[in-house]
Amino acid sequence: LFQVAQRLTRVKPSPTVTLSARVAALAATGRDVLSLVAGEPDFDTPDHIKAAASAAIGRGETKYTAVDGTPALKDAVASKFLRENGLSYERDQVVVSTGGKQVVYNALTASVSPGDEVVIPAPYWVSYPEIVLLAEGTPVIVPCAAERGFKLAAADLEAAITPRTRWVILNSPSNPSGAAYTRSELKALTDVLLRHPHVWVLTDDIYEHLTYGDFEFVTPAQIEPKLYDRTLTMNGVSKTYCMTGWRIGYGAGPRPLIKAMAAIQSHSTTNPSSISQAAALEALTGSQDFIAGHVSAFEKRRDMIVDGLNSIDGIVCHKPEGAFYVFPSCAEFIGARRPDGGLIASDEDFVLYLLDYAGVGLVHGSAFGMPGHFRLSYAASNQRLEQGLERITAACKQLE
Ligand code: PLP
Repeated sequence: LFQVAQRLTRVKPSPTVTLSARVAALAATGRDVLSLVAGEPDFDTPDHIKAAASAAIGRGETKYTAVDGTPALKDAVASKFLRENGLSYERDQVVVSTGGKQVVYNALTASVSPGDEVVIPAPYWVSYPEIVLLAEGTPVIVPCAAERGFKLAAADLEAAITPRTRWVILNSPSNPSGAAYTRSELKALTDVLLRHPHVWVLTDDIYEHLTYGDFEFVTPAQIEPKLYDRTLTMNGVSKTYCMTGWRIGYGAGPRPLIKAMAAIQSHSTTNPSSISQAAALEALTGSQDFIAGHVSAFEKRRDMIVDGLNSIDGIVCHKPEGAFYVFPSCAEFIGARRPDGGLIASDEDFVLYLLDYAGVGLVHGSAFGMPGHFRLSYAASNQRLEQGLERITAACKQLE
């Protein structure tokens, strides 16, 4: 009989992947399903980036590269951090991996021992606690209420830190809430961390470029240089450059950590795809002009979706600063009855009702550690979003 490893027994499969599969299965039956589940831009990878990949294939760049990324790409990453974030890293402080996810995985695997605690503000990206569990650490979840814009309060961070705390994970703009920290909000957190020199910061900046209005993106090591020696700054090309399938993410930080991460990579996946690295090099060094167009399209959709959801009786939607998600409350519908008499007992029942009755795919908030909410991804065409809103509105009206 097959038995899973002890360390796997605490880990759940990714609920967003499970939900996507459920939505796809329903669509395969011929139902007209509007999926607002995706964690990826609906725009195609820009042509100049695709061309760079083709050219790399033509040049025969189809062999192993250095495990932790080609020197050219690592230099481009270092230039990006200097240019956009005012952070100075040498080539040997940079690691390139198969997606931002592998950066997080390698960092936590390289540093977390049994009993070590990792502070994770909720709602959180689903993989953080699961990776901590895989590393045999203990996730310490700190709820961040909608009233505070789903952002971690300095006092709550302070209270969550113990002598066993190894890391705090920050993610701004956030998946699933879209919340992003202003300079002063982030400074309040870095001030707390200055008082706890044993705590390291993993900052997931993958949605950096997707912020709206005049919001200014900031990252911890930039606003508090004293944290530079214990911060891993993670980013990647998936979201900004519409390259989720190419699987390139990167991180920069203290040399011993980066070296340990590269060692894990050397014994697991080796280098990320050589072709994808060539594409990512073009993404980081080529024209950045298309980004503004995407950002303005996302901003208009955000405004339309937030207004539309708030006009539904029973739904309350906070307006987020960035990413392409909203995280509204559906708490008022918990305890309601579906037209067939079935009870909506949880946020999961609510999203399953919307899937069954309205053919709209969403993800329940408890998947992200915050029940009573749901996540809607507005990385979809305006037409689909309008249709989605109509269907959600109609389905909510039928709940009693
Ligand atoms: N971090 C966050 C917050 C994300 O939402 C995602 C993707 O959904 C990732 C990291 C992973 O990105 P990648 O596709 O580069 O692995």
